[in-house]
Amino acid sequence: MDQRIIGVETEFGIIHTQRGDAASGEPARTLSPDDAARLLFQPIVEWGRSSNLFLPNGARLYLDVGAHPEYASAECANLQDIVAQDRAGELIVDRMRQALEAKLAADGTGGSVYLFKTNVDSSGNSFGSHENYMIGRDTRFARLVASLIPFLVTRQLYSGTGRIHPNGPVGFGEGQTFGGGQGEASYSFSQRADHIWEDASSSTTRARPLINTRDEPHGDSERFRRLHVIVGDSTMSTTTTALRLGVTDLMLRVIESGQPLQDRTLNSPAMALRQISHDLTGTFQVAMREGGTRSALDLQREYWEVVSRFVQANGAHHDRVDWLLELWARSLEAVECGDHSLIDTEIDWAIKKKLIDSWAERAGADYSHPRAAQLDLTYHDIAPGRGLFRMLEERGMAARLPGTDGSEAEAAVDQPPATRAALRGALVQAGMEAGVHFTADWVNMKVNGPAQRVVTLRDPFATHDEAAEQLLERLRAERTTAVTSSPLPPAV
Ligand code: ATP
Ligand code: MG
Ligand code: MG
Repeated sequence: MDQRIIGVETEFGIIHTQRGDAASGEPARTLSPDDAARLLFQPIVEWGRSSNLFLPNGARLYLDVGAHPEYASAECANLQDIVAQDRAGELIVDRMRQALEAKLAADGTGGSVYLFKTNVDSSGNSFGSHENYMIGRDTRFARLVASLIPFLVTRQLYSGTGRIHPNGPVGFGEGQTFGGGQGEASYSFSQRADHIWEDASSSTTRARPLINTRDEPHGDSERFRRLHVIVGDSTMSTTTTALRLGVTDLMLRVIESGQPLQDRTLNSPAMALRQISHDLTGTFQVAMREGGTRSALDLQREYWEVVSRFVQANGAHHDRVDWLLELWARSLEAVECGDHSLIDTEIDWAIKKKLIDSWAERAGADYSHPRAAQLDLTYHDIAPGRGLFRMLEERGMAARLPGTDGSEAEAAVDQPPATRAALRGALVQAGMEAGVHFTADWVNMKVNGPAQRVVTLRDPFATHDEAAEQLLERLRAERTTAVTSSPLPPAV
C-alpha cells in the first residue's frame, strides 16, 4: 500500500464547575461528569434516539457508558487530512459544550463546562487516544506487533504530551524503580505511560495493552486489517500529532516491507514505558529480553537510521517525509543535549513544560504547587480563548503543521476527507436534509424506516460506489426540509 488509512479516536474528560452564589447563600449544584456528559449529548439523543452518530464529515461522535464523550475521526489517507479531522473533533465538541453552557445558564443551573483533551482525570482514571492504521491482511501480524512494540514504548520522547507529578513518579508493581508518589515533584514525557499494563491483548479496559489485537478491520477482512494502537497520548499540537502518526506509519512501512529488523524485544514493555516516561534525559537503561539494557535514545536513534536508509532506498511516499525525519532527529537531539528550546514550539511535552517552567520561575514555585498541576490541565482545555495550548497557538508560540493555518480544521468540521468517508458523509448530509436517519457503522449504512436500504463500503480508499451514489440521488430527491435537520449546534 502506498497510502495508508489512518483514523484517531479521542476521548474527552468533562467537568462542570460552579462558583456558588455567595450573596444569596444558595448552594451551587455541580453536575457529576456522568450527568454533564449525558446533558452534552441530550440534543443528539433527542434527534436520533441514540448517543451514537455519524456526522457529515464522516466521523463518529458517541458516548459510551461512563463520562467520556468520544470523537472518532473519519478515515484519512494523508497526514494533513488526519490532523485537520482530529482538530475538527475538538471544534465540534466545543460547539456542544457552548450549547450546554447556554442551556444551563437558561435553566438556572449555571456554571461552566470544561472539556479536556487529555488522558487522565483527577481521580486517576485514564482514557485514551486510539490510533488506527490500516495494514494488509497478508502482513504477518504477530511479527509486526513484536517489532513495533519497542518503537511504541520509546516514541514518547517526541509523542508525549507531558505531565506534572506533584509528589513524584507513582509506584508501579513488582520491582518498581520509583518512589510510589512520595518523592520530589517531577515532570514526565507521557500521560498514558503510567496506565498501561500489558504489551498486546484483545481487552482494552482490564489489562490495558499498548496494542489492542481485537480483529475488527472495519473493511474487507480478506484484504485489510486494522492495527489499533492505544498507548498514545492525546496530542494537542498539530506538529506533534503529525509526527506521532507520520513516524509510526514510516516504521510500519519498514516492517511491512519484510526487511529484517534487529530483535529489540523489551523485557517488560509496560515497565519500560514508565521508566522512560519519568526520565527526561532519555538515557534510562531499560532491560532487554535477551539480556543487557538499552536507552530510549539509543533505540530511537537506531529506528531513525533504519527508516532513513529505507527512505533513501525506496523513495519518499509522500511530501512530508523529509519534514518528519528532520523533526524526529531534532527531537532526539533536544532530549540528548537537554536543550528543549530546539522543540518547544513543536512537541507537546516541551511546549507545556516551557509554559509551566516560565510560570514557576516568575512565581518562585516548583511543580508541587497546585497551580502547576492546574496549568498542566488547562493546557488541554479545548475551548478557544481559554485553553492554554490553543492560546499559545493563536499567539504563534506553538507551531502549526507547515503549510496549514487552522482553516483546514474549520473546513473539516463539515467536509469529509477523500476516502470512503466522503460517501458516508454525503449520505449522512442527504439523510439529514431528507429527514431520514441511518443505522451505521464504518462499513454499513442502513436507512431506517419502512423502505430499508443498505449500502456496504468495504474498501476504505474507495470514493465511488454505485449503490451509495444511487441512494444519494434518491435521498436528494426526497429532500423535505428547507433547513437541514442536524443535531449539532451551529457555529457561533
Ligand atoms: P473502541 O472505541 O471500542 O476502541 P473501535 O476502535 O472499533 O472501538 P471507533 O471508536 O468507532 O471504534 O473508531 C474506529 C476508528 O477506526 C476511526 O477513527 C476510523 O476512522 C478508523 N477506521 C475505520 N476504518 C478503518 C480501517 N479500515 N483501517 C484503519 N482505521 C479505520
Ligand atoms: Mg472508539
Ligand atoms: Mg478504538
